Amino acid sequence: MDRPSTPQETASPTGERGADTILVTGANRGIGAAIARRLAQDGFDLVLHSRRDGDDIAQVAADARAAGAQVRLLQFDVTQRARVKTLLEADIAAHGCYYGVVCNAGIAVDKPFPALEDEDWDSVLKTNLDGFYNVLRPLVMPMIQRRRPGRIVTLSSLSGVIGNRGQVNYSAAKAGIIGATKALAVELAKRRITVNCVAPGWIETSMTEALSREEIRKLVPMQRPGEPHEVAATVSFLCSRDAGYITRQVIAINGGMC
Ligand code: NDP
Repeated sequence: MDRPSTPQETASPTGERGADTILVTGANRGIGAAIARRLAQDGFDLVLHSRRDGDDIAQVAADARAAGAQVRLLQFDVTQRARVKTLLEADIAAHGCYYGVVCNAGIAVDKPFPALEDEDWDSVLKTNLDGFYNVLRPLVMPMIQRRRPGRIVTLSSLSGVIGNRGQVNYSAAKAGIIGATKALAVELAKRRITVNCVAPGWIETSMTEALSREEIRKLVPMQRPGEPHEVAATVSFLCSRDAGYITRQVIAINGGMC
């Protein structure tokens, strides 16, 4: 169909500072920091989440402000459901609801299944999968009530698509995120809120620092790890007005692994 989009859907985010605020969780380092910097460069305003205050999130915020973004900071542990709800509700009561949410915060605790402790299972599921629920549950109804287009992007993993040795807990959590993302996408489609997932392979951050170059060369067709900015570019595109007809998708970013 060639029907033009409404002006609201085609407006550049840079033309509407304040109306294009995106919450990024785990924005203090790694992929989350790269996403925050890229979204700021692409004209979005930001609510930057970190678990705690510190020099790292202050630097990301400074970089985003230097790119022209308005930035607010929020601190919470994504596993603490009641506190997450209280803080998010207070933030949107004070400033209005967000245009977008990027659920990036996550952990991996890798061990062969017989060596997994209860805590390894619980912490990975609580951070990655409950984190999805804890952050999005207080935000989705206010996003609907904005009656405007919106964007939700979640971070899964190649591990959640194919299952990885030594990552039964992480694969379960990241596969759960894919299911939850797709189901939420169906629920929100008619509201013009898109919900998509990115599934990176090996990206060079502290999460993957234990991997050897040799292993990466053997397993990744492109023979190198990805860089956080390469994930950030896709996330920013999915947040853009141009991505308004993309929803319920899992976008692989993995150098050809499958
Ligand atoms: P990092 O370990 O570098 O960063 C993880 C981020 O999540 C940090 O900001 C961390 O905060 C935050 N976080 C972890 N637990 C909590 C918590 N309980 N409450 C609040 N914040 C928390 O990881 P990456 O940047 O590599 O990963 C980002 C996302 O991408 C994750 O969801 C990960 O699973 C996913 N991913 C990563 C891949 C990779 O190869 N790197 C591949 C596929 C997916 P703090 O600094 O306080 O610990």
